Amino acid sequence: MKKELTAITIATLLSSILIPTIATIKGIERLDGEVMRLPYDYSSLAQFSNLCIIAIITGLILYCLNYLLYFKPLKKFYVVGIYIFTWFLSLIEFFCLTKFELSISKPMISIMGDTNNMSEVRSFFELYFDWTTVVLILAMVLLAWAIWHFAEKICDFIIEYKKSFIAIFILLIIFAVTGHKIGGNSANAPIMKTIYSLNHGAKVKRYIAKLAANNTNKVEIISDKSDTPCFIFVIGEAESRLVMGLYNKKYDSTPLCQKLVDSGNMFAFTNTISMKSVTALCIPPLLSFMENTNTTPDLTKFDSILDVFAKANYQTFWISNHEKITKDMSYATVLMMKSDYNAHVAKVEGCSEYVPWLCQKDEAVLKPLDEFIQNKVPQKEKNFFVIHIMGSHARYVDRYPESFNHFKSSDIKENGFNDSQKDVYAKYLNSVYYTDYVLNEIISRFKEQNAVLVYVPDHGEELWQGGFVGHGPTNVSKYMVEIPMLIWLSDKYKENNPSIVENIKSSLDKPFMTDNLVHVILDLAKIQTKQYDATKSVINPAFVARDRIVTNGLKYEELRK
Ligand SMILES: [Zn+2]
Repeated sequence: MKKELTAITIATLLSSILIPTIATIKGIERLDGEVMRLPYDYSSLAQFSNLCIIAIITGLILYCLNYLLYFKPLKKFYVVGIYIFTWFLSLIEFFCLTKFELSISKPMISIMGDTNNMSEVRSFFELYFDWTTVVLILAMVLLAWAIWHFAEKICDFIIEYKKSFIAIFILLIIFAVTGHKIGGNSANAPIMKTIYSLNHGAKVKRYIAKLAANNTNKVEIISDKSDTPCFIFVIGEAESRLVMGLYNKKYDSTPLCQKLVDSGNMFAFTNTISMKSVTALCIPPLLSFMENTNTTPDLTKFDSILDVFAKANYQTFWISNHEKITKDMSYATVLMMKSDYNAHVAKVEGCSEYVPWLCQKDEAVLKPLDEFIQNKVPQKEKNFFVIHIMGSHARYVDRYPESFNHFKSSDIKENGFNDSQKDVYAKYLNSVYYTDYVLNEIISRFKEQNAVLVYVPDHGEELWQGGFVGHGPTNVSKYMVEIPMLIWLSDKYKENNPSIVENIKSSLDKPFMTDNLVHVILDLAKIQTKQYDATKSVINPAFVARDRIVTNGLKYEELRK
């Protein structure tokens, strides 16, 4: 018992500490100033202490589970099995971290669990399997063997110096408690992470299924004058209008959209903000009549944009380069599955935006779009598209192909920026420059039609203007919510709807928040439903400006100061 208990606890402890340490070293190595989540913060003794405590307790629990087994040979089998399995997972994680910069986590499990993409995973494993890996496996096997072999002696040693070990353990608890790091979400042992991730994946799938089951089309149409055959709604990611040439002449990052503005087909709203600064909270209000709130409302109470168009006899399409099976994206996924035709172009169903080799560039949406236009659009008079792109989501360098490496760090004119910041800023600009191209490509497919395209990103992004890079839920800044809002109208639409064009022109500078975008979309489509409210549509003459509360009662006007 002594031997096995010691061996399992040490294995759990080592695998919990070794892996985050390597990840952190790897992380520091590629920490290029851009958003990077370090799995282990070296500056925090409290976090380290907590990690050790949790690992030791996990090891003890894993061992003690054998008492639940009454059959003796099964006990032995379990104990040896759990020991080998701990090291096996450690090895997998080590390999994934060093080769793919990805630890055992929700995305990793979702990649592994996604059988459609197993061939891709396999080919990467084959590609990266080299002599270093062989040496690594041997070293780990040797370490595992040595710990098992000397476990009894190690245990005797611990017992001999038990006072010192107890003192260390108490110190760890003190560090953890005083640093407020005890407990929490710190299941760092690979085996716990695997269980956690598998469980999380299953939970998300159940959540999506439940949401879908209750999501029936309850839209009540009041008036329907819709006669626009092609309506396209493009949702971007983390795009700040401050770096767009359309809004700020400093960098010519949106030349194609600028041309559309110059020709009088595109309109750029100058005073629009997103309601929050994280994707998860922005997506449901963007896609439905739900308004910005700090509580979690019942999503089924609000009609979705998809249901409105479906009720108005539109054929509905959904193309997404985002993840599908995550809690953040669950509402979008439910609507996507409800659409008449959908295409999920991302390589895996789970979250993969931080895994460079799994990222699809946004132009991947054009292929299914072309197929739909050719094969499905002629089936019906009116067609509604939602296209959800990755836009400027971190890491920015993973968002655009090599050929869009247009801005270099030497082009960056920001005061007080160091070289690394200039480099990241240039990459961000390139992602904006590429989104400009993708938008123009989508628009070019509808130019000759009677068509409308509405574009907004979910939220903005800060690039050190306030000292921070990225976006987050708690540290919201004006840079994270000041977003572009673009409406493109084809010549035919403009001809047919001169009064709407005039309304748009006179509302470009009005204060607007995108949780009410659905009302604007309905105005453009000339549909009114029970939940529609003209006073909430910025392009409607009846529009009433209201306070824009971004987070916890904080007004945008205060944020802007
Ligand atoms: Zn986002």
